[in-house]
Amino acid sequence: MKIACPKCQWEPPAGARWTCTCGQVWNTFDTHGRCPGCSQVWRDTQCLACYRWSKHHDWYRDLPPVELLEEEIETPLAH
Ligand SMILES: [Zn+2]
Ligand SMILES: [Zn+2]
Repeated sequence: MKIACPKCQWEPPAGARWTCTCGQVWNTFDTHGRCPGCSQVWRDTQCLACYRWSKHHDWYRDLPPVELLEEEIETPLAH
């Protein structure tokens, strides 16, 4: 799984850390953006290199765009 900033292509090292508003410090990509301290899910992730915010999903470069995933979930199953 390739992870990189959508805006500057910075690839966070394993030791990269983000800080939640609750004070928790952790690697947000270990938990897909969920804070282990207060369970808040961060839909946007700030780049530690360029300081710009991007959708957490967009950091995962091997996944299709999030719009496609949401369409698949909302499509009712045919019985
Ligand atoms: Zn960046
Ligand atoms: Zn938190």
